[in-house]
Parts: sequence; C-alpha cells; structure tokens
Amino acid sequence: MRKKEMPDHMQFGTKAIHAGVEPDPTTGSIMTPIYQTSTYVQEGPGQHKGYAYARGANPTRNSLQKSIAALENGRFGLCFSSGMGATDAVIRLLNPGDEVITSNDLYGGSYRLFKRVYERFGIVFHFVDLSNVQEAEKYITPNTKLLWLETPSNPLMRIIDIAACVALAKQHHLRVAVDNTFASPYLQNPLDLGADIVMHSVTKYLGGHSDVIMGALVVNDEKLYTDLAFIANACGAVPGPQDSFLVLRGIKTLHLRMERHCQNGRVVAHFLRSHPKVAQVYWPGFEDHPNHAIAKKQMRDFGGMLSFTLKDDSQENAARVMKSVQLFSLAESLGGVESLINHPASMTHASIPKEERIKNGLSDSLIRLSVGVEDASDLVDDLGQAMG
Ligand SMILES: *Cc1c(COP(=O)(O)O)cnc(C)c1O
Repeated sequence: MRKKEMPDHMQFGTKAIHAGVEPDPTTGSIMTPIYQTSTYVQEGPGQHKGYAYARGANPTRNSLQKSIAALENGRFGLCFSSGMGATDAVIRLLNPGDEVITSNDLYGGSYRLFKRVYERFGIVFHFVDLSNVQEAEKYITPNTKLLWLETPSNPLMRIIDIAACVALAKQHHLRVAVDNTFASPYLQNPLDLGADIVMHSVTKYLGGHSDVIMGALVVNDEKLYTDLAFIANACGAVPGPQDSFLVLRGIKTLHLRMERHCQNGRVVAHFLRSHPKVAQVYWPGFEDHPNHAIAKKQMRDFGGMLSFTLKDDSQENAARVMKSVQLFSLAESLGGVESLINHPASMTHASIPKEERIKNGLSDSLIRLSVGVEDASDLVDDLGQAMG
C-alpha cells in the first residue's frame, strides 16, 4: 500500500483528518481498523514488530496517539483509559516529599486525586491562584517538581498565562503540565509555549460526541515520554481499540465543531450578559474579562464553555433554571455536540468542601454551560424561556 506523503506543516483541519492515519496495509481500508486483540503472534520468542501484548501497544491506539500528538504539535502521544488515568500517570513521575504547585480552581476530580489519593503517599500540593504568577513563586521550595495548570479554569473561566508560568518554572527547573481539556488543541497548544506535558480529557472535545471516556498526554522530550509510557504499561490504565476508533472518528471534525462551539459560545455569552436576571457571565472573550489580554495572546478563540450567576443567588433559583431548560441537558461533562447545563456546587465540584468552594468564587447560583453545536438562536430561546 502506498504510504501517504504528508507535508511537514499541515494546517490544523488537515491534521485533524490525516495525521497519524494510514490506509490499512492489507486491504487499503481508509478508516483505521479496530484491532480488537489482546495479544499478537510472534515469529519466535521476542520476535515481533513492536506489538507483543495489547496493554503495551495496539495499532488503533497508536494511530490515535500520533493524531493527538500532531494536533498538539508534539512528538509523542500516549492515551489512557480516562483523563484521570492520564493525570495519575503524571503524578506517578514524582516521589514522596516532592511538591506540586497547582491552581485553586482546579477540575474537581483532579483536586480529589491530588488531595485524597496522593497526599497519602507523601506528595505535597499547594493550591494557589496561578493567574497571579508572583503568587506561585512564593510556594517554590527545593522540593518543588511540578507546576500543574488548567486554563481556562473550570468553572470560572480564569486564564493562566502559560508562557509566564513556563518562564518561572524554567528558572527553578520545574516541569510544567497543562490540562488543555477546556481549550482543546484547536484553541491552544501549550507545548508551543514551552510546557513539558499537555494533558487532555479526551472524553470532552477530542472525542466530541459524549460516547467515550479517555485521556491523553503529549510531550516532546523523549526521556519523559519513555518514563510515561513505562508507567502506562506498568500501571495499565490504557484505552481499548473500540474507544480509540471512536476518538479517531471524532477528531476528523474537531476543527469544524470547535469553530461552531466558539461562534455559539459568543452568542450565548452576549445574550446572558444582557439578561436582567443574570448577575455575572464568566467568558474570556469579553474585553473586560480580567485575563482577556492573556486569553487573546495564547488562545485562537474563546471556546464554548462559560458560566454565569443569577442576581437571586441561591441554589433553588439555579435549580429552577436548570429544570426549565428544554434543549440543554442537565449533565456533568462538556465538549460534546449537544449543549449541557451543570451546577458546579452540587455536581462537578461537590467533592470540594463548601467553605473552600465559596472562598474560590464558586457561588451557590453559579451555572456552567457547555455550549454545543446546535443553532445558536434555539439555544438562546431556550435559556430565555427558562429564566422567564
Ligand atoms: C473531565 C475532565 C477531567 C477528567 O477527565 P475524565 O476523562 O473524566 O477522567 C480532567 N480535567 C478537566 C478539565 C476535565 O474537564
């Protein structure tokens, strides 16, 4: 089968469709086959072409890893059975006594993993406001090894200056890992800004159709890749070939979906901001968003994630709006084609103690939207009727 000749500098949409995938060598099948196998027959003991046992490697997963790496302008990709599995692998690079600086409005599951699993193993986490880089510097000690950031943040859409964090980290020989789930590789590429590791909950925009749980890491450094691949194989949180196929398929429309998510996000954000019952809208595309300039510098557009609070700031009032929407589905998760509505205080961020939550600005009426790719006018009509 003739190999595809790929130019070095493909544009994003071309990469989304072509990077990492080749016609199947035996049949020419244009879609990557689902290699549903646990093991591979060897010519003699140890004589194989890189495929010995499917926890270590699977051709469907390999194609996907190459595709995601290409989208992040990285050299090496690794897929995991969930975003948390990917995050877990990064923390397993550390030793007891090592310290991590991370943000104080992190994804709830990451907070839980750090706090309730890894603190027991003697790893120290500092949760700080990373939108102020000087603040992070105060927590650096000789034991600090990793800066873990998430931008835009969940659910307050705060923006962290990735390049500024990288500059600080380089001075102190720290690694920088960026949870790039909210932005997706379409909007932001942290490795280009000097980060060492990009993490994705592939479950969200990369998969894009709310039908897969998966995670990924992308890195440029070969030793770091080898260490992470060792952890992936040794600990075993690898995804199956069916899910890998679904994500390969989802990625083919990533650029088209993201363009529409961004358009719809913009329309919904402006609609909510002008609504008399809305107190505040959190969306980095507003010029008066406190970190708008950084968002503009490091992101290509502002995405389809936004949050808002109500003037009548109570959980009951938020619950009434969430009950009244027809098109938005009340659900955790984000990044799928369908619009979702969510109440962080009682759902995604329920694992964060209330005092901690309020201190970090997650008020009772805060509602988060994952704006999908439906027609924007229908989404606006739905929110309008729900708020009455
Ligand atoms: C969903 C999510 C995760 C966790 O990913 P899973 O695939 O659910 O394990 C991590 N970070 C962010 C920002 C997320 O939205």
